[in-house]
Amino acid sequence: MTCPDCGSTDFSKEGKGELICKKCGIVLDENMIDDSPEWRAFNAEQREKKARAGSPITYTKHDMGLSTKIGKGSGELYKVAGNKRAQYYRIRKWHNRLTKSKDRNLGFALSELNRLVSQLNLPRSVHEEVARLYEKAVDKGLVRGRSMESVITALIYTVARKQGTPRTLDEISDASGIEKREIGRAYRYVARELDLKIRPAKPQDYIPRFAGDLGLSGEVQARARRIIEQAKEQDLLSGKGPTGVAAASLYIAAVLEGEKRTQREVADTVGVTEVTIRNRYKELVEEIGLHEVE
Ligand SMILES: [Zn+2]
Repeated sequence: MTCPDCGSTDFSKEGKGELICKKCGIVLDENMIDDSPEWRAFNAEQREKKARAGSPITYTKHDMGLSTKIGKGSGELYKVAGNKRAQYYRIRKWHNRLTKSKDRNLGFALSELNRLVSQLNLPRSVHEEVARLYEKAVDKGLVRGRSMESVITALIYTVARKQGTPRTLDEISDASGIEKREIGRAYRYVARELDLKIRPAKPQDYIPRFAGDLGLSGEVQARARRIIEQAKEQDLLSGKGPTGVAAASLYIAAVLEGEKRTQREVADTVGVTEVTIRNRYKELVEEIGLHEVE
């Protein structure tokens, strides 16, 4: 089991099925990570080995039907179950109340979303999908009792990654002012209730953005991607944080293409430590045979 954010495999268990990554603090369900064979296995042989090793993970389906929500919301409602008319009126009343508060709060939420999208420089498609899911979350009554901001940030985290433009928990936390741990908790809740699955970010998804921030050329980016591909083929990436891998391959690629940046510059831009870059960098240089870098 690998953390989708930092790649760590060190978790502590808290509560029922709740796992907390000791390194980055994200809170997960044991059954939440997409650990499908296409994703984890890097070549046919490993895939075969993994497929034989055990049964696939199944996801818990949560019944989010209206009945469940209303039962929870008004508490006493289902004591009168069977009386269809009373039930109908209660549902309608509840629904009207929800719709009113929904309109009021949706305005605030969408303006906060606008702000975060522009600060994190996210593409329009992410913006739209987050807005759609947020409304869905409100319709299902998921935002009540939880801060609107933490639900928004959790959705940004999930959708940005899904669409191949991931933002790290650190970046989202900085932009929103919400603690990583709280984002992690909201993420766990929202992902479970909306049946969203998340995969670990791919290091190559970070390349264009971080290369842009470092002012590196297209050649460096292409080279960094090739390094990541090679590392993947040699199974050097499992359990490694995707940002650390992206940082190290950019560092190496920049050296090889004559556009050297210091490890400090790369570390600051990507948001990892220089130690992480050095560790990844050593592995890559040794295993892939890139000794010309040294
Ligand atoms: Zn983590």
